[in-house]
Amino acid sequence: MATPEQAAIELRQLSFRYPNGRLALDSIQCAIAGSERLAIVGPSGAGKSTLLMHLNGLLPAPSISADDDAQVFVQGQAVTRKRLHEVRRQVGFLFQDPDDQLFCPTVRDDVAFGPLNLGLDRAEVIARVESGLAAVGMADCSARNPSELSTGERKRVCLAGILACQPSILVLDEPTSNLDPRARRQLLQILKAFSGTLIVATHDLDFVLDLCSRVLVLESGKVQADGNTERILSDPLIMDRHGLEVPWRLRSPARRASEG
Ligand code: ADP
Repeated sequence: MATPEQAAIELRQLSFRYPNGRLALDSIQCAIAGSERLAIVGPSGAGKSTLLMHLNGLLPAPSISADDDAQVFVQGQAVTRKRLHEVRRQVGFLFQDPDDQLFCPTVRDDVAFGPLNLGLDRAEVIARVESGLAAVGMADCSARNPSELSTGERKRVCLAGILACQPSILVLDEPTSNLDPRARRQLLQILKAFSGTLIVATHDLDFVLDLCSRVLVLESGKVQADGNTERILSDPLIMDRHGLEVPWRLRSPARRASEG
């Protein structure tokens, strides 16, 4: 685990209440190192998506203008209204539903959207689009309409657009939802090849085992456990208490036998 000085992301007593009064995050303290792959797990309604949305200022940045008010720090910088653009260059965000991210008539245009927004010149944008699509194995699809692709392919196009912006941090909300086994495997390989900080909220604990070295268990907006993936996911007390199940491959032989 990172000390605050080494952290790519630091949360300082992060709390957040929705306008309807619901306290979704409650005093979250956490530092994530540049080299870490962290999974955030917990039951539905735990606060996972709300937490992710704070990492690139989707929440609640409009109200935060002074460093002293900030509870989220990216690469040592407070996430404030005036730094939003810079923060979003560093933090790539993959939404659960690719249709929230794709809106252009061709795959190429969608992947180019981010690099164009960064103000890069034409040659650099073309190079970034090519390398982004190659990284996700979609180079042959650049002229296709995203709406004609499968969910897994659309997700890979979204990821290509994010990678084309060369973020140092990738944040993913339920990346394996609605993916078939092959698309899920492809996604795992792409994410393993990413060398920056990775933060993923998911119910897919086998995916977590294959990808992440650290797990944070969230429930009722609070951190309930934080540590080594195998240690936490194999602990039946932690898992049962927070509505989670020990993945099959981490269950003890006795437990497997009793469950048939
Ligand atoms: P998770 O991603 O773990 O399922 P969420 O972050 O979506 O959890 O939700 C955390 C809590 O905040 C839940 O109680 C949820 O009902 C509530 N919540 C989420 N979005 C909103 C919203 N837009 N307005 C009010 N409450 C919300």
